[in-house]
Amino acid sequence: MNAPNRHCIFCDLIQGAAEVSVCYEDANAMAFMDIQPVNLGHTLVVPKKHYESLKDVPRDVAMHLFDVAVTLAPVIQRASGCDDMNIVVNSGHQAGQNVFHYHVHLIPRRAEDNFDIALPFEGSTMPDRTFLDAMAARIIAGLRDPARQAAPHTTRAVRAG
Ligand code: AMP
Ligand code: ZN
Repeated sequence: MNAPNRHCIFCDLIQGAAEVSVCYEDANAMAFMDIQPVNLGHTLVVPKKHYESLKDVPRDVAMHLFDVAVTLAPVIQRASGCDDMNIVVNSGHQAGQNVFHYHVHLIPRRAEDNFDIALPFEGSTMPDRTFLDAMAARIIAGLRDPARQAAPHTTRAVRAG
C-alpha cells in the first residue's frame, strides 16, 4: 500500500522506470497486466497523470478510462478465455484501495476462482423504504446543488514525488 502523496509505483510504470506488461496506450491512458491477477488477463486501466482516487479524477479523464475499459473488456475476455468479468474501482482506503493512483480493474472471471464481490451484502438487512426514499431525496437535492460542479473540474493533477 502507498499512502497518498508518497512515491507512486504506477507513475514509475507509466514512466518506464519499472517492469510492466502494457496492453494499451494512448495520450492520456495506459492499461497493463495486474502483477497479482485474480485470473490471467486481470488488467488495470490508469490515467497517465497522477490522480489518487475517484474524487480527484477530472470527469473527462474518468469517462475516457471507462471508454478504454469497455473497449478492452471483450478483447480480454477472448484472450483469457473467460466469458464473465468484474469491472471494479476501489476508491479510497476504506473501499480497499491499496495503490493511490486511480485505476479501473478489469477482472476476467472463471468458475471456482474463489474471488468474490458478494452482493447483496450478507451483513446488511433491508432498510425500511422510508430510509431508501430519504437517501434518494438527498441525492436528488445534491444533484441540484449549484455548487456541485466546482469539485471535480477544478481538481488539479498531483504528480507523485
Ligand atoms: P487496489 O487495491 O484497487 O488499489 O489495487 C491495486 C492493484 O495493483 C492490485 O491488484 C495489485 O496486484 C496491483 N499492482 C500493484 N503493484 C503492481 C505493479 N507493479 N504492476 C502491476 N500491478 C500492480
Ligand atoms: Zn501515480
